[in-house]
Amino acid sequence: MTKYPLKIISDPPPMVSFKKVRKTYGSLVVLDDLDLDIAAGEMVSIIGPSGSGKTTVLRMLMTLEQINDGVIYIDGKPLTHMPKNGKLVPANQRHLRERRADIGMCFQHFNLFPHMTALENCMEGPVQVLGIPKAEARDRSEELLELVGMIAKKDQHPSRLSGGQQQRVAIARALAMRPKVLLFDEVTSALDPEVIGEVTNVIRKLVSEHNLTMLMVTHQMGFARDISDRVCFFYGGKIEEQGHPAELFGNPQKERTQKFLSAVKEAI
Ligand code: ADP
Ligand code: MG
Repeated sequence: MTKYPLKIISDPPPMVSFKKVRKTYGSLVVLDDLDLDIAAGEMVSIIGPSGSGKTTVLRMLMTLEQINDGVIYIDGKPLTHMPKNGKLVPANQRHLRERRADIGMCFQHFNLFPHMTALENCMEGPVQVLGIPKAEARDRSEELLELVGMIAKKDQHPSRLSGGQQQRVAIARALAMRPKVLLFDEVTSALDPEVIGEVTNVIRKLVSEHNLTMLMVTHQMGFARDISDRVCFFYGGKIEEQGHPAELFGNPQKERTQKFLSAVKEAI
């Protein structure tokens, strides 16, 4: 691990930095020496065919599993590794627990706690994990439920909410942990078409009004085009092509990008 710095010293450092990150399952290479930097406040979308490694990128950021090679840094400091005697060594559980607090994630299936109300869902992490006093956690959670347009339903349990409403609560719950980076994995894929807009509008609002760093995997090309600062097209565990959405969608350079985009266009 000597080839990787103990911290990234550029000022400011990228909020997220993948350095030659490799992830394999047996002989299957899922992330192939991936390099990816995301600046603070940047909204980056990941598109690409099924199985190209999109979800794996997010799972590695959530430290749900170990990477096989390379290093991931958050805000200039190593996430997957920690310094020891002047070198980087694989992170221990304590380091992972501390550093993963910087990252929040929203999933395709909202994964709300079914026995808790919307408000309790939002308060649970701040109170139990961050040790924030209940009254303060309640105030903050109510502000966030207001932000996602769910304050009127704060005392409802998830089973009483529509998919779009549950997903908005899930976004508020992720924000309640005050992450530096927010990840979205196909958060509209499980929703009925008529409620997709209420979730994309919340994400739009976060992009325009909040200076959060966001990484979003999506199949909604029009949405990615509208709101992203940059779009990365994944293929075979690598970034095949990336750029400003107007360029990547309007004038893709690589044949694989062109084929993928014309295939999804036909599917719409
Ligand atoms: P995407 O989100 O782009 O559809 P994923 O990142 O979920 O793709 O998966 C990339 C590849 O890794 C796929 O071939 C998938 O089957 C494989 N994969 C993902 N998780 C595992 C796992 N736990 N064990 C074995 N293979 C996996
Ligand atoms: Mg996926």
